[in-house]
Amino acid sequence: MYGSQLILLPDDCRLPLKRQRKRKKLPMPPAPAPPHPAPVSNKGFKQKQSTYRISAAPSGRARCRRCRVVIAKGETRLEVCAFVKPGRYTMLLRCTAPACIDAPLATAILSVYKHAERVPVESVLEGSAEANRVVRAITCAGEDAQ
Ligand SMILES: [Zn+2]
Repeated sequence: MYGSQLILLPDDCRLPLKRQRKRKKLPMPPAPAPPHPAPVSNKGFKQKQSTYRISAAPSGRARCRRCRVVIAKGETRLEVCAFVKPGRYTMLLRCTAPACIDAPLATAILSVYKHAERVPVESVLEGSAEANRVVRAITCAGEDAQ
């Protein structure tokens, strides 16, 4: 499911510590043990839901995550912004061929937005027949899944 298109956000950047001084080594004091070991449980690490958006492809370079077909520039596509870990999301794309708006995808979308009409639509597509077509496809696929 997760591919190589990871989007690193700035808060994930760590600069390497520069500690290479060429002087005689001073004996390092033993590092004090942390008073409390870091919790191993993933409490507070809430799995967030993916978000979705209907948009027009800005270029003809991306491929559909399901059928691998190239999504042509200007073609309507579905963006899936999948949560990886805090501060890190990965963007997956789907073409809007009926086969690619499948029941599992529609179920996931409807679990977030309840109604396909609530899925965000890029402003250039708002109210367009294309956006309506995708909304209907999501609705129908969601009904098939029940
Ligand atoms: Zn596809």
